[in-house]
Amino acid sequence: MSVTGKTAVITGSNSGIGLGVARELARAGANVVLNSFTDRAEDHALAEEIAKEFGVEARYIQADMSKGADCRALIDAAGTCDILVNNAGIQHVSPIDTFPVDKWDAIIAINLTSAFHTTAAALPKMRAAGWGRVVNIASAHGLTASPYKSAYVAAKHGIVGMTKTVALETAEEPITCNAVCPGYVLTPLVEAQIPDTMEKYNMGREEVIKKVMLERQPSREFATVEQLGGTVAFLCSDAAAQITGTTISVDGGWTAL
Ligand code: NAD
Repeated sequence: MSVTGKTAVITGSNSGIGLGVARELARAGANVVLNSFTDRAEDHALAEEIAKEFGVEARYIQADMSKGADCRALIDAAGTCDILVNNAGIQHVSPIDTFPVDKWDAIIAINLTSAFHTTAAALPKMRAAGWGRVVNIASAHGLTASPYKSAYVAAKHGIVGMTKTVALETAEEPITCNAVCPGYVLTPLVEAQIPDTMEKYNMGREEVIKKVMLERQPSREFATVEQLGGTVAFLCSDAAAQITGTTISVDGGWTAL
């Protein structure tokens, strides 16, 4: 069974990896639902561009993934949800003793708890349809840690654990649940970390990119949003029907170190 005609809901998909995933799933023939917390003309225009480029149905639905009710409302509003990609995420970098409480709460809510709500709302739809794929965009930080990223590392380890649990709960059904663990991908989220990291390490931009960010990534290359989207599309393919409860790293060798 291909993804042609399936409906994919991708949280946090008006930029970066989420948008890349939406585009690759649309390229494979899936109808896509884009999402973020904003409701701007350009958000809806992204969906229109995808529909036009790939000849699929594409919609943009505003929902704030920091709010449980919004997460569930997104899945409701999507109607069908055969493929759920939990991608929305934010980052904040700070030592734990001065880590702002509101940032901790927001990271746990958006990067972890949102996936609980969307998955809970989507599984009954997948069961009714007799097929489903849940793909959680975790991180190399779901498998390893870095200093100053306590909330992010906690949330990403949490989502890897939840991935395994959902896989076991759906193991005898035609539904899979996996996590994709990217290393560094040059998206707005990573771009936003550069100034803080420059200050923390007293380095220039290029030095931070090569010596701090890509220092952990043996390939010394950023992964691309197209590579992430292709990996998600693979997990939605027939070839991946027996892949469940696991992680796929797209990290240039980071977690092999
Ligand atoms: P990004 O900032 O480009 O994208 C994040 C997306 O989440 C955006 O579409 C944003 O609008 C959305 N979002 C943020 N808060 C939201 C909210 N409250 N409700 C709904 N949507 C919200 O960043 P990205 O790098 O594309 O990150 C996407 C995912 O990939 C995140 O989960 C991130 O942790 C993960 N990731 C990224 C990298 C990387 O190097 N870029 C590495 C590992 C994991």
